[in-house]
Amino acid sequence: MFNPTEFSAFQWLLMPLFIFGRYVVLSAVLYFVFYVWKRRAWLYRKIQQRFPTPTDYQREIGYSALTSLIFGVVAWLCLGTSFHSITQFYTDIDQYGVAWLIASIPLTLLIHDTYFYWIHRFMHWPPVYRLMHLTHHRSVNPSPWAAFAFHPLEAVAEAGIIPILLLVMPLHPISFLVL
Ligand SMILES: [Zn+2]
Repeated sequence: MFNPTEFSAFQWLLMPLFIFGRYVVLSAVLYFVFYVWKRRAWLYRKIQQRFPTPTDYQREIGYSALTSLIFGVVAWLCLGTSFHSITQFYTDIDQYGVAWLIASIPLTLLIHDTYFYWIHRFMHWPPVYRLMHLTHHRSVNPSPWAAFAFHPLEAVAEAGIIPILLLVMPLHPISFLVL
């Protein structure tokens, strides 16, 4: 069974690569469909009748790589260190049953969206905006590559939901992966 609390140091080192790899695959598929294959055919549906520049793509991919690293480090701090002993992380489905496993998925989404709503409002407060959120809104013509393009401080704030969820509710790796 997939159990991050038993990961080796090597597996944890691979975690940022896994997160970045998932981002690259998903973004590349969307980029290919909307920006290469159907670029001309679906242009009329695009709000802005122009495309981001290569510099935009480079900036977005660079920050997304940094975000992947930060998400990987936070996952390691939560589950790869002794911190996991105070969380409600569990790996045996029978411990809480299938009904809880299913119910926990929309619940994680609800808690995450509430958390992100308030964090996002906070980040639009002018003194904070310039410091940690302007980087994300530099993508004024967003491409699929902008998905993880956050300032490192914003990436840390976003990842803050991981320890919160692990502390407030029993969380199985499946719910975690779906989230
Ligand atoms: Zn914003």
